[in-house]
Amino acid sequence: MSDCIFCKIAEKKMPAKIVYEDGQALAFEDVNPQAPVHILVISKRHIPTILDIGDGDAALMGHLLGVCKKIAMDKGIAESGFRVVSNCNPEGGQVVYHLHLHVLGGRKLHGPLG
Ligand code: AMP
Repeated sequence: MSDCIFCKIAEKKMPAKIVYEDGQALAFEDVNPQAPVHILVISKRHIPTILDIGDGDAALMGHLLGVCKKIAMDKGIAESGFRVVSNCNPEGGQVVYHLHLHVLGGRKLHGPLG
């Protein structure tokens, strides 16, 4: 989508600190990190929100979670622990309307969620 910042990052039209890429997925550092490790994992295909995930996207979503696992292992936070978060719509805290998974870790994460 032309006015989507995460599509622009996926198309390399906007800079980002990319830490992983394959045909379907991209992972890059969050510009405003909330933890020592804060990576965003996106689908290269524009999917606005969790509500737009289709019946045919099960494999893609599984793949994105697998990328989160790989990020956690590569960043050395898998064993200590980490969190995967995806916000949906305004009250869920979504600001960028291109589905993304936050991978957070590197310190003790406090709850409760929200
Ligand atoms: P959300 O509130 O779940 O939509 O999260 C959006 C996230 O995108 C926030 O954590 C922002 O810091 C992050 N963000 C926004 N613009 C950029 C960018 N150009 N590069 C990296 N992260 C970004």
